[in-house]
Amino acid sequence: MKDTFRHKGMRQQLVQVVKDKGITDTNVLKAIGKIPRHLFMDSGFLDHAYQDKAFPIGADQTISQPYTVAFQSELLQIQKGDKVLEIGTGSGYQTAVLCELGAQVYSIERQHELFKKTSKFLPKLGYRAKKLIFGDGYIGLKEEAPFNSIIVTAGAPFVPSPLLSQLAIGGRLVIPVGDNVQTMTLFIRNSAKDFEKHEFGEFRFVPLLENKN
Ligand code: SAH
Repeated sequence: MKDTFRHKGMRQQLVQVVKDKGITDTNVLKAIGKIPRHLFMDSGFLDHAYQDKAFPIGADQTISQPYTVAFQSELLQIQKGDKVLEIGTGSGYQTAVLCELGAQVYSIERQHELFKKTSKFLPKLGYRAKKLIFGDGYIGLKEEAPFNSIIVTAGAPFVPSPLLSQLAIGGRLVIPVGDNVQTMTLFIRNSAKDFEKHEFGEFRFVPLLENKN
């Protein structure tokens, strides 16, 4: 688990790439500049870790592209101490970004292998989520609701209604919606029944799966 000056330099270049693509939130950019992304990937991918690309992390899943992570994180507008629910822990990279932004993170992963690996790995880097859960993101985490923000990091064929109902008033849900291609969608809960919806262009994610293996 090494983080060298070379890695740090590559990270600063990545921050510039993400900035050039339109990310302006300085806290998000700082988080990307700080988190050793290469340690979230198998060592064979070392040279790719700081390219703005998604990569395989095992169990047929990917670590999201840094720009996508930054884009979703920026849309959440996290304040320190916010309670945030993440669906799709995967490698834990997005979880680490949320921790750097000062959120209290609850994250759900449905693949046991990834859940185990990431549960061990994140604390080693000093990232302590409030709770990592092995479960199904479609149902959210009712016992810890309401959340200031919810982020879904897999492509959802539809918007699961439990996620909307687990948002605090004023809370934000960021979710890529669609089958093969997803539209990045933001819901803001204005009142118990009133949700504002905004759409932000197309992204590609691995699917949010409905049934466990
Ligand atoms: N945030 C991750 C992205 C991983 S890809 C990262 O930064 O690495 C999406 C993840 O969602 C995968 O790990 C996949 O196993 C998980 N996933 C798919 N369907 C799910 C579901 N119904 N509930 C929870 N996690 C799910």
